[in-house]
Amino acid sequence: MNDPSKDREVDLSYLPTLLQKEISLSRSLNDLTSRDAVLAAIQEFESSGRESFLETYGYKPSRSYVLQYDGRMYDSKAIAGVAYGKQHGIPLKASEFSGGEQTVVKCFARLGFSVIKTPHPALFLTRGSTYFRKDLRAAYGGQLQAGIWTPKNFPVVFLFSGESGKAYGYHDDWIDGVFMYTGEGQNGPMTFTGGNKAIRDHRANGNDLMLFKDLGKGKGVRYEGVFECASWTFVTRPDKENKSRQAIVFNLMPVSTDAHSESPYQAPHQSAPSTTPSITTLKTAAYTAANEQPVQTDPAEVKRSWFKRSEAVKRYVIARANGKCEACDEPAPFKKKDGTPYLEPHHTHRLADEGPDHPAWVGAVCPNCHRRIHSGEDGEAWNTRLQLRLRDIEPLGD
Ligand SMILES: [Zn+2]
Ligand SMILES: [Zn+2]
Repeated sequence: MNDPSKDREVDLSYLPTLLQKEISLSRSLNDLTSRDAVLAAIQEFESSGRESFLETYGYKPSRSYVLQYDGRMYDSKAIAGVAYGKQHGIPLKASEFSGGEQTVVKCFARLGFSVIKTPHPALFLTRGSTYFRKDLRAAYGGQLQAGIWTPKNFPVVFLFSGESGKAYGYHDDWIDGVFMYTGEGQNGPMTFTGGNKAIRDHRANGNDLMLFKDLGKGKGVRYEGVFECASWTFVTRPDKENKSRQAIVFNLMPVSTDAHSESPYQAPHQSAPSTTPSITTLKTAAYTAANEQPVQTDPAEVKRSWFKRSEAVKRYVIARANGKCEACDEPAPFKKKDGTPYLEPHHTHRLADEGPDHPAWVGAVCPNCHRRIHSGEDGEAWNTRLQLRLRDIEPLGD
């Protein structure tokens, strides 16, 4: 018997690389044409549960577009990839295609499913405006009483500052441009678990920190903007039973979420190095900067070191791009006064472009591509495309 479906199991590894590439490129979402295959994927999602479904097929939660069916929401990219497998035998891997408007959304629209865009909370909420926790919970999901929320479907950590701390004799505060935010844990020493871990690891997890100030009972919370955890310090503070214990205070830096060229922070004056450092030196410095998690107490030192680490990442990715935009491959549009090509660092996993992010997640792009990503109709897709390119340029785990 000659079963044609067996053909798909053929090991391609002996084929020339180029041919392998062509075969894998021929696996495209355009060939997902069966509505029943999508329904079968949805059914499997329901029966195995979201987490195990995503883990089994190697997908991350869809943060920008969700598939809506029968009043329920599904991760659009994962469903598309698995549905492809239901129709053609082998599911598409997450790395084989990009999510977003031009691919997944189009495909589902063609098959008669509705996909809705879920805006990043920082694009939806207005800084300085007052919101109520119950409304935030309805929109994003969160733990009503907790001081730190980790909404599951959004790349954010919500931090609430204010009232709760006062009961224990302390409060969060601005000191010299750094916001000192006390971690969570009512009794005993605070540890890097739960919300505290979410703050510490927010960059590695691709999450933006959003700060809300509690205005008091019944008065809601005021949205203060997006922040970065620069570092932290350990202090002695009373716990709920008024016993002394070790608390974690996070040093948060306010950051902008618009595409912009230069950081609002002033670079500390440095004399220019006499020789241009090699790309290897820059790379080492950038990786060190991205991985460093210092314990710091002095706000001036917090700012200085955070800025220095951001610069190390920026300098390396711009040197890596070698004068060409990493999104569109066009040469940098002009040279800076010092003669180097003008490109801007863009953080592909988060809204904020400042801070020492991992070089695999930061692209050096021309101002045009940068605006396009942040403000363009196809910005999301353009960002995903850049993410995929960065995987080749700067493989993770290197
Ligand atoms: Zn470009
Ligand atoms: Zn950007």
